[in-house]
Amino acid sequence: RSFDDYRISDEIKRALAVLKYETPTDVQHEVLPLAFAQKDLVVQSQTGSGKTAAFAIPVCEQVLWEEKRPQALILTPTRELAAQVREDVTNIGRFKRIKAVALYGKEPFATQKEELKQKTHVVVGTPGRVMDHIERETLVLDQVKYLIIDEADEMLNMGFIADVTRILKQLPTDRVSMVFSATLPEAIENLCRTYMDEPMKITI
Ligand code: AMP
Repeated sequence: RSFDDYRISDEIKRALAVLKYETPTDVQHEVLPLAFAQKDLVVQSQTGSGKTAAFAIPVCEQVLWEEKRPQALILTPTRELAAQVREDVTNIGRFKRIKAVALYGKEPFATQKEELKQKTHVVVGTPGRVMDHIERETLVLDQVKYLIIDEADEMLNMGFIADVTRILKQLPTDRVSMVFSATLPEAIENLCRTYMDEPMKITI
């Protein structure tokens, strides 16, 4: 098993080498071919499985550098996770010069607003702050082609599902959606059924 088994460009493969990712983890091995085939996915996997790279590699691979507005939206339940995912996306996309912005509470709105005026390929954020930016029109999501919901069960536990649903309603329907969750409670299954396009379920 090697990263050469997938349709990964040299730019991304160089970044994986810098990170010393030599062999795909199980979740990466399952997700990468399906993500490159533009399938909607519900992935049941734990933290530590390498799930972040499983979605960050196809996202970095498929965003177009020229486009100014965000093409991928990654929702996370906590600001720590948003910051971590932003860093992982930046590292994986470094040779493609992928710009990722993290949006979460307790950080000045104005700073984030200025950041969003620059070219942004990937937005990573917590639902409340992402919703604020949508409402104040500092974040425009009409170019989003990839939606990732990370730790969906934690979103539910923290009471963020209403915000997540409101955000989903704002997104272009012509997109690829991936949901990652350690467990799949009924409310998450319902969300996937309503807002995804015949998702395939992967259990690691
Ligand atoms: P995650 O499950 O995304 O939080 O990743 C867990 C840890 O595994 C992180 O420290 C990653 O940097 C690392 N990691 C992810 N994919 C690989 C890989 N293919 N080879 C080695 N380490 C990896």
